[in-house]
Amino acid sequence: MEIFYVNGSFRNKNKANISVQDRGFNFSDGVYELIAFNKRKIILFERHLERLKSSLISLGIKQPFTNYQTLRIIIDKLINLNNLDNGYIYIQITRGSSKRNHIFSDNLKQNVVLFLIPERNIEKMKKGVEVRTSKDMRWGRCDIKSISLLPNILSKQEAHLNGLYETWQIKDKLVTEGTTSNAFIVDKDDNIRTHPKSFNILGGVTREVVITLAKNCRYKVIEKPFSMDDILKCKEAFLTSTTVKILPVTKIDDYEINNKKIGKITHNLMNKINDYLKEND
Ligand code: PLP
Repeated sequence: MEIFYVNGSFRNKNKANISVQDRGFNFSDGVYELIAFNKRKIILFERHLERLKSSLISLGIKQPFTNYQTLRIIIDKLINLNNLDNGYIYIQITRGSSKRNHIFSDNLKQNVVLFLIPERNIEKMKKGVEVRTSKDMRWGRCDIKSISLLPNILSKQEAHLNGLYETWQIKDKLVTEGTTSNAFIVDKDDNIRTHPKSFNILGGVTREVVITLAKNCRYKVIEKPFSMDDILKCKEAFLTSTTVKILPVTKIDDYEINNKKIGKITHNLMNKINDYLKEND
């Protein structure tokens, strides 16, 4: 039986209900986080927590926990109750429930929902995935991990229907990021290029770790947006997210990267992140 956490209690899935007047349901007025756990150990908890707090602050939603150790205790209990060793913790916090009105009161009580997603097998994808590009249709605050994900899901679905893993979104002729991941290329001089942190991308926790690992390996990391022209000239490409860590990108639209083979820098970083996640947290 799957157990969900809803506003203070642990419930069977079929009893895990929330008001139809939840502002998340009515307006997508909320934020979320996805955190990996491995052998029941929560991975990079503090970094996810910082982003969660910052998303809440950006939307003016009150912090639902005075002490975030409570969240850690809830997660540990949820993992034990579900008896799951590896997977992802989904955390959703909305502004609360109220009569439907765009205008909100300061006194709402946040709705907090947590559930677990079992790990999926990504072995095949580690050999390389293909992506398409399309216009970035999202709003001006992509740095907030908001549950309002329509442009992301439509672009991801379009990729899926075409047998591809991801869509790299393009704004003003420059790649911002994927719909569920951050985008990287390696240029002809072995420099790693990725969009800088800004309102136009989600500051991925994995992105941050990969940049640190790359710098430790003495690779030069240039946090500057890249264009389709840069893609045409690149030696390697990869993407990062909590669910997949690092995946080599072997084709972007019609352009095959590195003869569809995993590049050496990508390969090295894939090994490094595995080691790092084993040693840390
Ligand atoms: N960019 C977007 C739009 C995402 O939705 C995600 C993950 O959900 C990421 C990047 C990767 O972020 P992280 O590495 O923190 O999972």
